[in-house]
Amino acid sequence: MLAIVAAMHEELSALLATMPDEERVRVAGRDFWVGHLHGQPVVCVLSRIGKVAAATTAAILLERFDIEALVFTGVAGGLGDHVQVGDVVVATRLLQHDLDASPIFPKYEVPLTGHARFAADTALSDGLAQVARECLADPVALVGAAASRRFGIHEPRVHRGLLISGDRFVSTELESRMLRDALPDALAVEMEGAAVAQVCHDFKVPFAAVRTISDRADDSAHADFMSFVAGVASRYSLAIVGGWLALGRHGLEHRSSKI
Ligand code: SAH
Repeated sequence: MLAIVAAMHEELSALLATMPDEERVRVAGRDFWVGHLHGQPVVCVLSRIGKVAAATTAAILLERFDIEALVFTGVAGGLGDHVQVGDVVVATRLLQHDLDASPIFPKYEVPLTGHARFAADTALSDGLAQVARECLADPVALVGAAASRRFGIHEPRVHRGLLISGDRFVSTELESRMLRDALPDALAVEMEGAAVAQVCHDFKVPFAAVRTISDRADDSAHADFMSFVAGVASRYSLAIVGGWLALGRHGLEHRSSKI
């Protein structure tokens, strides 16, 4: 089955509401909702916020359920100059920006893995990016005229590239500039993706991350964030992940369940 994961309730609620037959499995305080979306077997779960919470959730998922692929959906702060509120970032690689065991290991490298940047699965990511582009073609249909006006979502775009994660809500211009200087190719910052990518790497399960830009990780990030998540985030997840699930099996039937 496919695993659909988000950090917060607002990011997954609309999609969960379309699951007709969900059955709850409760492990370590997390509710794993097992059922079907668009006829496909899925398990949906809220990872909770932060790298440790997300890694714990991912490890439980991959150990307890027969997961063919894991898709993370949610919001992130835009870092790239051209990455604006209402855009979508589909990760190609993911890195933990607050991990530094230097000089023993190179900065950002996860000790003993040899990797700093964990790759997302190309086929999954291609499919999600394609659906995201279709959804963003009509922002008013996606989020409604009021939200589109309020957040200035007029010509939203899909970006693909580096997504960085760390245990900090980045909400100052200073910190966001430091991250951009250290990692100039980072498109967006959030708090879970790279941790989940690392767990999926260990379990050899294909992984993808789709993040809607909720804020610019600057001094106004907090204000933007709360209203955006409440009004917009779950609609994006519903449209993009739901639309992608509706397309069918994504070529997964051609793979062994764990590659
Ligand atoms: N004030 C919020 C905090 C949520 S933390 C609350 O009380 O609920 C932010 C969440 O959104 C994380 O799950 C993270 O992955 C994502 N996120 C969005 N913008 C971010 C940013 N600028 N920096 C870090 N994480 C961000």
